[in-house]
Amino acid sequence: MTDEIPASQISHAPLAGVIGMPIAHSRSPRVHGHWLKRYGLAGHYVPIPVMPEHLAEVLRVLPRAGFVGANVTIPHKEAVLTLADTVTDRAALIGAANTLIFRADGKIHADNTDGYGFIANLRQSAPDWRPEAGPAAVIGAGGAARAVVASLLDSGVKELRITNRTRLRAEQIKAEFGARLVVYDWAQAGNMLEGATTVVNATSLGMDGKQPLRVPLDALSPDALVTDLVYTPLMTPLLTEAQARGCRVVDGLGMLLHQAAPGFERWFGHRPEVDDEIRRVVLE
Ligand code: NAP
Repeated sequence: MTDEIPASQISHAPLAGVIGMPIAHSRSPRVHGHWLKRYGLAGHYVPIPVMPEHLAEVLRVLPRAGFVGANVTIPHKEAVLTLADTVTDRAALIGAANTLIFRADGKIHADNTDGYGFIANLRQSAPDWRPEAGPAAVIGAGGAARAVVASLLDSGVKELRITNRTRLRAEQIKAEFGARLVVYDWAQAGNMLEGATTVVNATSLGMDGKQPLRVPLDALSPDALVTDLVYTPLMTPLLTEAQARGCRVVDGLGMLLHQAAPGFERWFGHRPEVDDEIRRVVLE
């Protein structure tokens, strides 16, 4: 991409932000703001509240106002695919984008780094985790689950079991992602865990203020690695119970931080580290 201006050559401090509605709760400004300060970089990262009917207009204007890119969150992650000029294969496969790069030639490039963040978190938190060691079980079939499924298959998982309250969404993922997927009925979610070496909650259940995920863990092996995309609270009821059964558990905060890193590097010119310091800052 030779037609791009490197972030370091831009004469004003590069601007980036997160586009969503509502957006006040987003932790992304805190993450990027801390990294900018920590690495002594010029730049600003701001929350950008945008109604769906204004999304196209805002995306036209931001690059002309000094923005070099943006993160995208609910409810715009799917819609930006139709507005971007180029879309990575993984974003197209997942059907959603969370990272936009505004190129110097005016074109908008869309990517999805959720799957990367998911795997990078597991690799960092459990370095000896082997995706190919046995079946993976994914609970949920929303947007985040699609990114998790894509990244697990990419990482070499040979059998991927999936269940969802609305079974049709799980069937759709199987239809798109192929033969390595096996769909389980929501009522059979407990059976799905038998022999699984990787277990993922990709629903919003277990989040503060929501019901806990009620899947019986009797079949869960203590050798399994269990992770939750929900990170408020850090230790969800699922992770607490899995840990009590002897499983290794990985919370979802690292995924949030790792998915942010590629965008930060593109916009501000430095690959940030995901470590205890940034975890502490986000949790403050
Ligand atoms: P989404 O597209 O709205 O999907 C929500 C999922 O949760 C669906 O599978 C849905 O099932 C299920 N669900 C919701 N309420 C339920 C209930 N009462 N009973 C059973 N299932 C229920 O949301 P998403 O974008 O995939 O996000 C899912 C979760 O992951 C959210 O908590 C989000 O904050 C988290 N997340 C975390 C990260 C991170 O970096 N850690 C990144 C992305 C997302 P149905 O299809 O039946 O409705």
